[in-house]
Amino acid sequence: MAKLIDGKAYAEGLRARIAAAVAGLKKEHGLTPGLAVVLVGEDPASKVYVANKAKQTVEVGMNSWEHKLPAETAEADLLALVGRLNNDPVVHGILVQMPLPKHIDSAKVLNAINPDKDVDGFHVVNVGRLSTGQEALVACTPTGCVMLAKDVLGKLDGLNAVVIGRSNIVGKPVAQLLLAENCTVTIAHSKSKDLPGIVRQADLVIAAVGRPEMVKGDWIKPGATVIDVGINRIARDGKNILVGDCDFASCEKVAGAITPVPGGVGPMTIACLLYNTVRAACAIHKVKTPAM
Ligand code: NDP
Repeated sequence: MAKLIDGKAYAEGLRARIAAAVAGLKKEHGLTPGLAVVLVGEDPASKVYVANKAKQTVEVGMNSWEHKLPAETAEADLLALVGRLNNDPVVHGILVQMPLPKHIDSAKVLNAINPDKDVDGFHVVNVGRLSTGQEALVACTPTGCVMLAKDVLGKLDGLNAVVIGRSNIVGKPVAQLLLAENCTVTIAHSKSKDLPGIVRQADLVIAAVGRPEMVKGDWIKPGATVIDVGINRIARDGKNILVGDCDFASCEKVAGAITPVPGGVGPMTIACLLYNTVRAACAIHKVKTPAM
C-alpha cells in the first residue's frame, strides 16, 4: 500500500515556519508582511476561500485586508482599487479572487497587479520569469505540489514526470517547476493519445484534470508518486463527497506514495499564498527571505 502524503500536516508545519519567519521580520526589521484580498460579488465558494485566507494570514502574524465589492462593480473601479493597492507601501501581496463577474476582463485585472505583489503568480511577468528560470512569484497550488513531491522523494532530478492538465493555474506552472527541478516532463491533456500508456511511464504523476477518479490504478507504474490536485464533488451512497482526479482505492494499491483528497494538495494552497506574501515583502524591502 502506498505511503499517504499528508498535505494537511505539511501545510501546518509550513504555516508554523512562516509564523516564525514573520516574527523574526517584525523583530529584526520592523517589517510586517501584509496581504490584501479583493472579492467581487457573492460567489459562495469564493467567500469561503477569502475568509479562510484572511483567517490564516492573521494567524501567522501578518496584516490582512479584505476588499469586498458588489457584483456590479465596474472594471474601471476594480482597476482603480488594484492601482491603489499597488501604491500602498504596507501591502506586499495582492490577490484578486477568481472567478470575476463576466463583464470584467480577468486577464486585464491580473496583469494590472504589480508583478512584485502578485502572490498568486498569475501575472504574465511572473509566468515569464518562471519559464525563463528567473526569480518569480509562482502560483500557489503548483508550488504546494512540488513541495509535497520533494518532501516524499527528496531530489526530483531525472525523474519522469507526467502532468495531466495544461491549465494556466495548475498544469503549465507545475510542469515548469518540475522542469526547473530537472524532471523529464510530459504534459498530457484532453487531446493526448493513449493517456494510460503515457501515465505508465511516470515516476511522478500530477493529476490536475477536474474529472472525478479518472486515473486508475492500472495506469500507475508500481512505486510511482501520485499527487492528486483534483477536487471534485460527487454524490455517492446518498452523500455528497469530495474525490480527486485519481481513483484513490485502486491507485493506492500500486503507487509508492499518494496524496488523499481531501487532505493532500488542498491545504497547501493557502499555506503557499502566505509563503509567497513573505517572499514578496522581503523582496520589496530588500531583506533576505528567511528559511521557511
Ligand atoms: P481546467 O479545467 O482549467 O483544466 C483541466 C485540464 O485537464 C485541461 O488542460 C484539459 O485539457 C485536461 N483534461 C480534461 N479532460 C481530460 C481528459 N479526459 N484527459 C486528459 N486531460 C483532460 O482545471 P484546473 O487546472 O483549474 O483544475 C484541475 C483540477 O484541480 C480541478 O479538479 C480543480 O478543482 C482542482 N484544483 C485544486 C486546487 C487546490 O487544491 N487548491 C486549485 C486549483 C484547481 P484541455 O486543455 O485539452 O482542455
